[in-house]
Amino acid sequence: MSDCVFCKILAGEIPSKKAYEDDQVLAFYDIEPKAPVHILVIPKQHLSGAAAVTAENSAVVAHIFEVIARLTKELGLADYRVVTNNGPDAGQTVPHLHFHILAGGKLGGMA
Ligand code: 5GP
Ligand code: ZN
Repeated sequence: MSDCVFCKILAGEIPSKKAYEDDQVLAFYDIEPKAPVHILVIPKQHLSGAAAVTAENSAVVAHIFEVIARLTKELGLADYRVVTNNGPDAGQTVPHLHFHILAGGKLGGMA
């Protein structure tokens, strides 16, 4: 999607600090971290959010969780939180499916 911030990051039009990349996903550090470690993991395919996950495209979500498990181990993060916001009332500001990895200290309670 041409007007999608995360598609622009995928295209290299907006720079990002990459944590991991393969043919299906990109992980990069959040520009406004809400925890000592704050990484976003996104599919390379533009999906608008969790509500756009279907039987046809859900394999990438399983892959994202494999990447999250591997990446956090590599970074020495035993404890972490994974969050996805769907829709503006839930706090979604970028309409491209993404999973927040929040870690690096004692996290506050869930909203
Ligand atoms: P949401 O609010 O949609 O769940 O999460 C979007 C996240 O994307 C926010 O935490 C925000 O800081 C991050 N973000 C927005 N624009 C950029 C950007 O251009 N670069 C990076 N690295 N993160 C961004
Ligand atoms: Zn996109």
